[in-house]
Amino acid sequence: MSHDHDHDHDHDHDHSHLSDMDVRVRALQSILVEKGFVDPAALDELVTLYEHEVGPQNGAKVVARAWTDPAYAGRLFSNATAALAELGFTGRQGEHMVALPNTPQVHNMVVCTLCSCYPWSVLGLPPVWYKTPAYRAKAVADPRGVLADFGVSVPDDVAIRVWDSTAEMRYLVVPMRPEGTEGWSEEALAATVTRDSMIGTGLPVVTEPAA
Ligand code: FE
Repeated sequence: MSHDHDHDHDHDHDHSHLSDMDVRVRALQSILVEKGFVDPAALDELVTLYEHEVGPQNGAKVVARAWTDPAYAGRLFSNATAALAELGFTGRQGEHMVALPNTPQVHNMVVCTLCSCYPWSVLGLPPVWYKTPAYRAKAVADPRGVLADFGVSVPDDVAIRVWDSTAEMRYLVVPMRPEGTEGWSEEALAATVTRDSMIGTGLPVVTEPAA
């Protein structure tokens, strides 16, 4: 029998070089594609989007705008979802956003104690530590200890408020504008805003702008 015509089964690929997780993800993907639930091109586009275009640089723009435009800050703190949409940040896992202002009295920190809910539209995909049971438990039990783990010290008279994300509600911490940045451009300010400063496990990092 000719090799070309005697079989209609799928070719058996050797997946032995793939991790267990890769194999599971591929299996799931092929079922979804086969049943017509997802378009493989759309999947590729999503992956590229979150790899290259959606990340903490989005949140940093929002924070810098809030620092320089009090009217925008007002809108951000009263209706974050709408204020983020003004800058074009909408969509997946960012549908119901709340912006939390850090103040001299309060430092905010975000966790998802149940799983890994995270504001994708402004921060991209969550860092690995965000999903660990250790962070999820300790953020609630000992937030100051978590800050110490991250090398951050917040004065004792500043209250630390921990916010538990859910599928319905995602949070963006707006850190305090660093001292000595008066007159800086929005772009230079955005460069000080780290991902962790918008989760509440870090602070903005100021490096002198190039002369
Ligand atoms: Fe979650």
